[in-house]
Amino acid sequence: MKNIVLYGAPGAGKGTQAALLAEKFNLMHLSTGEMLRAEVAQGTSLGQRVKGIMERGDLVGDDIVLSLIDKALTANLAGEPRDEWDEHRRQRAIENGQNVAERKVPSIIFDGFPRTVQQAQMLEFVFSRRQMRLDAVISIDVNRDELIRRIHERAAISNRADDNDDATIRHRLEEYEEKTHPVLEYYKVSGLLVSIDGGGEISETNTRLCSLMEHLLRDE
Ligand code: ADP
Repeated sequence: MKNIVLYGAPGAGKGTQAALLAEKFNLMHLSTGEMLRAEVAQGTSLGQRVKGIMERGDLVGDDIVLSLIDKALTANLAGEPRDEWDEHRRQRAIENGQNVAERKVPSIIFDGFPRTVQQAQMLEFVFSRRQMRLDAVISIDVNRDELIRRIHERAAISNRADDNDDATIRHRLEEYEEKTHPVLEYYKVSGLLVSIDGGGEISETNTRLCSLMEHLLRDE
Protein backbone atom coordinates (compact mmCIF):
# COMPACT_ATOMS: atom_id res chain seq x y z
CA MET A 1 0.00 0.00 0.00
CA LYS A 2 1.26 3.44 -0.98
CA ASN A 3 -0.06 6.80 0.10
CA ILE A 4 0.31 9.69 -2.27
CA VAL A 5 -0.73 13.34 -2.04
CA LEU A 6 -1.63 15.14 -5.25
CA TYR A 7 -0.92 18.80 -4.58
CA GLY A 8 -1.89 21.85 -6.62
CA ALA A 9 -3.64 25.22 -6.58
CA PRO A 10 -7.38 25.50 -7.29
CA GLY A 11 -7.74 24.84 -11.01
CA ALA A 12 -4.48 22.89 -11.33
CA GLY A 13 -6.38 19.75 -12.30
CA LYS A 14 -5.93 17.68 -9.15
CA GLY A 15 -9.47 16.32 -9.19
CA THR A 16 -9.41 15.35 -12.87
CA GLN A 17 -5.99 13.74 -12.66
CA ALA A 18 -6.65 11.97 -9.35
CA ALA A 19 -9.81 10.38 -10.82
CA LEU A 20 -7.88 9.18 -13.91
CA LEU A 21 -5.08 7.74 -11.77
CA ALA A 22 -7.52 6.07 -9.37
CA GLU A 23 -9.17 4.26 -12.25
CA LYS A 24 -5.95 3.20 -13.98
CA PHE A 25 -4.08 2.07 -10.87
CA ASN A 26 -7.05 0.99 -8.76
CA LEU A 27 -6.43 3.54 -6.03
CA MET A 28 -8.72 4.92 -3.42
CA HIS A 29 -9.36 8.55 -4.37
CA LEU A 30 -9.89 10.76 -1.32
CA SER A 31 -11.01 14.26 -2.29
CA THR A 32 -11.85 16.45 0.69
CA GLY A 33 -13.61 18.92 -1.65
CA GLU A 34 -15.89 16.13 -2.95
CA MET A 35 -16.53 14.79 0.55
CA LEU A 36 -17.46 18.26 1.77
CA ARG A 37 -19.70 18.95 -1.26
CA ALA A 38 -21.45 15.60 -0.62
CA GLU A 39 -22.13 16.65 2.99
CA VAL A 40 -23.59 19.96 1.75
CA ALA A 41 -25.70 18.21 -0.91
CA GLN A 42 -27.06 15.76 1.67
CA GLY A 43 -27.82 18.61 4.07
CA THR A 44 -26.07 16.93 7.01
CA SER A 45 -25.28 19.04 10.08
CA LEU A 46 -21.63 19.10 9.01
CA GLY A 47 -22.78 20.17 5.52
CA GLN A 48 -24.80 23.02 7.00
CA ARG A 49 -21.76 24.16 8.96
CA VAL A 50 -19.45 24.29 5.95
CA LYS A 51 -21.79 25.48 3.18
CA GLY A 52 -21.26 29.22 3.72
CA ILE A 53 -17.51 28.79 4.33
CA MET A 54 -17.09 27.00 0.98
CA GLU A 55 -19.28 29.48 -0.88
CA ARG A 56 -17.05 32.32 0.33
CA GLY A 57 -13.94 30.43 -0.77
CA ASP A 58 -12.57 30.13 2.76
CA LEU A 59 -10.90 26.97 3.96
CA VAL A 60 -12.97 24.70 6.18
CA GLY A 61 -11.57 24.09 9.68
CA ASP A 62 -8.76 21.53 10.02
CA ASP A 63 -10.70 19.52 12.64
CA ILE A 64 -13.70 19.03 10.32
CA VAL A 65 -11.52 17.94 7.41
CA LEU A 66 -9.52 15.60 9.62
CA SER A 67 -12.67 13.91 10.90
CA LEU A 68 -13.66 13.12 7.28
CA ILE A 69 -10.20 11.80 6.44
CA ASP A 70 -10.09 9.69 9.58
CA LYS A 71 -13.46 8.11 8.75
CA ALA A 72 -12.39 7.35 5.18
CA LEU A 73 -9.09 5.79 6.30
CA THR A 74 -10.91 3.54 8.74
CA ALA A 75 -13.29 2.42 5.99
CA ASN A 76 -10.38 1.78 3.61
CA LEU A 77 -8.48 -0.32 6.11
CA ALA A 78 -11.66 -2.27 6.88
CA GLY A 79 -12.02 -2.98 3.17
CA GLU A 80 -15.41 -1.28 2.91
CA PRO A 81 -16.45 0.12 -0.47
CA ARG A 82 -16.43 3.89 -0.09
CA ASP A 83 -18.70 4.83 -2.95
CA GLU A 84 -20.53 3.44 -5.96
CA TRP A 85 -17.39 3.37 -8.06
CA ASP A 86 -15.53 1.38 -5.42
CA GLU A 87 -18.44 -1.07 -5.24
CA HIS A 88 -18.37 -1.40 -9.04
CA ARG A 89 -14.65 -2.34 -8.90
CA ARG A 90 -15.42 -4.84 -6.15
CA GLN A 91 -18.11 -6.50 -8.27
CA ARG A 92 -15.70 -6.68 -11.20
CA ALA A 93 -13.13 -8.36 -8.95
CA ILE A 94 -15.74 -10.94 -7.88
CA GLU A 95 -16.60 -11.62 -11.54
CA ASN A 96 -12.90 -12.14 -12.23
CA GLY A 97 -12.77 -14.77 -9.53
CA GLN A 98 -10.69 -12.74 -7.08
CA ASN A 99 -11.17 -13.33 -3.41
CA VAL A 100 -12.45 -9.91 -2.40
CA ALA A 101 -12.49 -10.77 1.28
CA GLU A 102 -8.72 -10.93 1.05
CA ARG A 103 -8.21 -8.09 -1.35
CA LYS A 104 -5.32 -5.91 -0.37
CA VAL A 105 -5.96 -2.48 1.03
CA PRO A 106 -5.90 -0.08 -1.91
CA SER A 107 -3.25 2.58 -2.15
CA ILE A 108 -4.62 6.06 -1.54
CA ILE A 109 -4.41 9.23 -3.57
CA PHE A 110 -5.24 12.37 -1.56
CA ASP A 111 -6.70 15.26 -3.56
CA GLY A 112 -7.12 18.70 -1.97
CA PHE A 113 -5.60 17.59 1.31
CA PRO A 114 -3.47 18.49 3.26
CA ARG A 115 -4.15 22.16 2.60
CA THR A 116 -2.48 23.67 5.65
CA VAL A 117 0.74 22.81 7.46
CA GLN A 118 -1.37 21.84 10.44
CA GLN A 119 -3.33 19.35 8.29
CA ALA A 120 0.00 17.89 7.09
CA GLN A 121 1.08 17.42 10.71
CA MET A 122 -2.30 15.94 11.65
CA LEU A 123 -2.01 13.50 8.73
CA GLU A 124 1.31 12.27 10.10
CA PHE A 125 -0.34 11.68 13.43
CA VAL A 126 -3.31 9.69 12.04
CA PHE A 127 -0.92 7.72 9.84
CA SER A 128 1.44 6.84 12.67
CA ARG A 129 -1.50 5.61 14.75
CA ARG A 130 -2.26 3.15 11.96
CA GLN A 131 1.32 2.21 11.09
CA MET A 132 0.92 3.99 7.76
CA ARG A 133 3.16 6.56 6.11
CA LEU A 134 3.18 9.04 3.28
CA ASP A 135 5.23 7.88 0.28
CA ALA A 136 5.18 10.89 -2.06
CA VAL A 137 3.73 14.34 -2.66
CA ILE A 138 3.26 15.20 -6.32
CA SER A 139 2.81 18.89 -7.09
CA ILE A 140 1.04 19.82 -10.33
CA ASP A 141 2.51 23.20 -11.25
CA VAL A 142 0.36 25.64 -13.23
CA ASN A 143 0.80 29.42 -13.55
CA ARG A 144 -1.76 31.82 -12.09
CA ASP A 145 -3.24 33.11 -15.38
CA GLU A 146 -3.88 29.56 -16.55
CA LEU A 147 -5.45 28.65 -13.17
CA ILE A 148 -7.94 31.52 -13.45
CA ARG A 149 -8.73 30.64 -17.08
CA ARG A 150 -9.45 27.01 -16.12
CA ILE A 151 -11.67 27.89 -13.17
CA HIS A 152 -13.75 30.15 -15.46
CA GLU A 153 -13.95 27.36 -18.01
CA ARG A 154 -15.07 24.89 -15.34
CA ALA A 155 -17.70 27.37 -14.09
CA ALA A 156 -19.45 27.09 -17.44
CA ILE A 157 -19.96 23.34 -17.06
CA SER A 158 -20.14 22.72 -13.31
CA ASN A 159 -22.63 24.12 -10.85
CA ARG A 160 -20.09 24.75 -8.14
CA ALA A 161 -21.08 27.92 -6.31
CA ASP A 162 -17.42 28.75 -5.63
CA ASP A 163 -16.49 28.74 -9.34
CA ASN A 164 -19.05 31.30 -10.38
CA ASP A 165 -17.95 34.50 -8.75
CA ASP A 166 -14.74 36.43 -9.48
CA ALA A 167 -14.28 37.65 -5.91
CA THR A 168 -14.62 34.07 -4.59
CA ILE A 169 -12.11 32.73 -7.11
CA ARG A 170 -9.63 35.47 -6.13
CA HIS A 171 -10.18 34.69 -2.47
CA ARG A 172 -9.58 30.95 -3.00
CA LEU A 173 -6.28 31.77 -4.70
CA GLU A 174 -5.35 34.06 -1.77
CA GLU A 175 -6.19 31.31 0.70
CA TYR A 176 -4.04 28.99 -1.38
CA GLU A 177 -1.04 31.38 -1.40
CA GLU A 178 -1.28 32.16 2.28
CA LYS A 179 -2.20 28.79 3.83
CA THR A 180 -1.61 26.01 1.30
CA HIS A 181 1.61 27.11 -0.38
CA PRO A 182 3.62 26.63 2.86
CA VAL A 183 2.66 22.92 2.67
CA LEU A 184 4.98 22.63 -0.35
CA GLU A 185 7.95 23.88 1.64
CA TYR A 186 7.03 21.49 4.44
CA TYR A 187 7.19 18.50 2.10
CA LYS A 188 10.26 19.77 0.26
CA VAL A 189 12.15 19.69 3.53
CA SER A 190 10.97 16.14 4.22
CA GLY A 191 12.24 15.01 0.79
CA LEU A 192 8.85 13.68 -0.34
CA LEU A 193 8.11 16.33 -2.97
CA VAL A 194 8.15 15.73 -6.73
CA SER A 195 6.93 18.49 -9.09
CA ILE A 196 5.55 18.15 -12.58
CA ASP A 197 4.48 20.69 -15.17
CA GLY A 198 0.67 20.75 -15.34
CA GLY A 199 0.29 23.69 -17.72
CA GLY A 200 -0.48 21.61 -20.82
CA GLU A 201 -3.35 19.39 -21.96
CA ILE A 202 -5.01 16.92 -19.56
CA SER A 203 -3.48 14.01 -21.48
CA GLU A 204 0.05 15.46 -21.30
CA THR A 205 -0.14 15.91 -17.54
CA ASN A 206 -1.68 12.47 -17.23
CA THR A 207 1.21 10.86 -19.14
CA ARG A 208 3.72 12.48 -16.78
CA LEU A 209 1.74 11.41 -13.74
CA CYS A 210 1.31 7.83 -14.96
CA SER A 211 5.02 7.29 -15.41
CA LEU A 212 5.66 8.69 -11.94
CA MET A 213 2.97 6.46 -10.46
CA GLU A 214 4.32 3.38 -12.21
CA HIS A 215 7.64 4.09 -10.58
CA LEU A 216 6.09 4.73 -7.15
CA LEU A 217 3.84 1.66 -7.19
CA ARG A 218 6.49 -0.69 -8.60
CA ASP A 219 7.75 -2.01 -5.29
CA GLU A 220 4.34 -1.98 -3.62
P1 ADP B 1 -10.34 23.56 -5.61
O1 ADP B 1 -9.05 22.83 -5.57
O2 ADP B 1 -10.77 23.94 -6.97
O3 ADP B 1 -10.42 24.71 -4.65
P2 ADP B 1 -11.69 21.57 -3.91
O4 ADP B 1 -12.82 20.71 -4.33
O5 ADP B 1 -10.41 20.90 -3.54
O6 ADP B 1 -11.50 22.56 -5.14
O7 ADP B 1 -12.12 22.49 -2.68
C1 ADP B 1 -13.30 23.26 -2.68
C2 ADP B 1 -13.49 23.93 -1.31
O8 ADP B 1 -13.67 22.93 -0.32
C3 ADP B 1 -12.32 24.78 -0.81
O9 ADP B 1 -12.35 26.12 -1.31
C4 ADP B 1 -12.54 24.73 0.70
O10 ADP B 1 -13.56 25.60 1.11
C5 ADP B 1 -13.03 23.31 0.91
N1 ADP B 1 -11.92 22.34 1.17
C6 ADP B 1 -11.58 21.27 0.41
N2 ADP B 1 -10.56 20.59 0.93
C7 ADP B 1 -10.21 21.26 2.06
C8 ADP B 1 -9.20 21.07 3.05
N3 ADP B 1 -8.31 20.05 2.98
N4 ADP B 1 -9.13 21.96 4.07
C9 ADP B 1 -9.98 22.98 4.17
N5 ADP B 1 -10.96 23.23 3.27
C10 ADP B 1 -11.08 22.38 2.22
